[in-house]
Amino acid sequence: MKKRILFIDRDGTLIEEPADEQIDSFEKLKFVKGMFRNLAFIREKLDFDFVMVSNQDGLGTDAFPEDTFWPVHNFILQTLAGEGITFDEILIDPHFPEDNAPTRKPNTGLVEKYIQDTEHYDIENSFVIGDRETDRTFAQNIGCKSLILSDENMSWEKISEILFAGERIAEVKRTTKETDIHIKVNLDGTGKCDISTGLGFFDHMLEQIGKHGMIDLTIHTKGDLEVDEHHTIEDTAIALGECILNALGSKRGIERYGYSLPMDDCLCSVALDFGGRPWLVWDAEFKREKIGEMPTEMFLHFFKSLSDAAKMNLNIKAEGQNEHHKIEGIFKALARSLKMAVKRDIYHYELPSTKGML
Ligand SMILES: [Mg+2]
Repeated sequence: MKKRILFIDRDGTLIEEPADEQIDSFEKLKFVKGMFRNLAFIREKLDFDFVMVSNQDGLGTDAFPEDTFWPVHNFILQTLAGEGITFDEILIDPHFPEDNAPTRKPNTGLVEKYIQDTEHYDIENSFVIGDRETDRTFAQNIGCKSLILSDENMSWEKISEILFAGERIAEVKRTTKETDIHIKVNLDGTGKCDISTGLGFFDHMLEQIGKHGMIDLTIHTKGDLEVDEHHTIEDTAIALGECILNALGSKRGIERYGYSLPMDDCLCSVALDFGGRPWLVWDAEFKREKIGEMPTEMFLHFFKSLSDAAKMNLNIKAEGQNEHHKIEGIFKALARSLKMAVKRDIYHYELPSTKGML
């Protein structure tokens, strides 16, 4: 079987990077929070080769004499080794940025032998773990994936979770005579949304799910709006539900349940269970016929379709005066509830059910 590699950055990733970006004394040495536990877990449980790739600008020049670098570097390696974290190879580039060296990240000179050796290495499913945009570019240049610590919602906990339990990304394309839908979700995202359904208010509501659920959400729906809004809203809900269910995968290690709190003038609560049995309790009354171009009678229909397709129990209650606030509160509460329920714990990586299936 081909080996996968973790190309691991040093400064800002294993150890904290000081303001002058140069670790040339023990006083500047501080390990990154959560790194030891999670990297040791990855080393022990998973079959990745560990390759450290680090730019050390001007190493060996007067600006960064070698005798200020190696004692600290060796101490770092010894300390990591003490926790079981060893490297298969350590690659250091000593050039300044202005040298434009082919070996300096994000250039790939130092790791070219791995990229070329397609017989032994699965580069496509390897990862760069770093802390900067240049680490992301480095991954793109290599042709592998990246996990970047400076990204919102990213941490050493999240890195070990994704490497151990897999990414939770799913895509659904659904075309009928009435609608043409493309949905993509990443349950471990940062809340990035790209949503267009042709219904401005509906887009605004769906965006709440992404933003407040920390879920990357792409939803492109082209529906028969010349007839009415019904198919567009219903089919989007079905496809979104399917997509969430697919992304959840085995459901191992998830919290399973989610609940939420009151918001603003409205009390909106969305309790959910990913137990595999769809059910909807809907206790929210709307007096207006439409909000934006969205018929309020379609709200219930949206959540029913979503609950059926995602096989989740949804219990929704809302009270309050302002109709816009009320429905926005429901979507926000759903988002928070989803965020709680999909949270995974890889150190208790079990199915959250006494029945042994969900
Ligand atoms: Mg770095």
